[in-house]
Amino acid sequence: MFDDMRELYQDVILEHGKNPRNRCCPSGANRQALGQNPVCGDAFVIYLTVDDDNVVRDAGFKGDGCAISMASASMMTEIVKGKTLEEANKLFETFQGLATGNDDVETEGLDEDDLDRMQALSGVRQFPIRVKCATLAWHTMQAAADGKDKATTE
Ligand code: ZN
Repeated sequence: MFDDMRELYQDVILEHGKNPRNRCCPSGANRQALGQNPVCGDAFVIYLTVDDDNVVRDAGFKGDGCAISMASASMMTEIVKGKTLEEANKLFETFQGLATGNDDVETEGLDEDDLDRMQALSGVRQFPIRVKCATLAWHTMQAAADGKDKATTE
């Protein structure tokens, strides 16, 4: 059990959880959605600044949650910056695959830093209830990208 928990709470997760990146509303944000994970109490607003070419110029979040959800929101906002919405949605699929233990997930051609960050959170696959914490920010990003104002893990 302790070994598993150590694997779940890797240093990088603890560090992002303690010092989340992009915890702000970016200037010029033109998409936003509220994401909630009632099971854990995680709640975030995700902000995206998307330009005319559908490229995410900036991303940020406000809100609070457990260490896993905070780390995930922090890393997600870092990862999607500079990506097109289409690329961001593809990365979400990849992340969801990693987080739920789907080993067939396509990781070829991914940026190594992006993959490292996503893999750091893939330890949640052993804790189904934590998968929702890890994917909340991504669900919410996708909702914002699709012009929806809410996302929930339920
Ligand atoms: Zn949580």
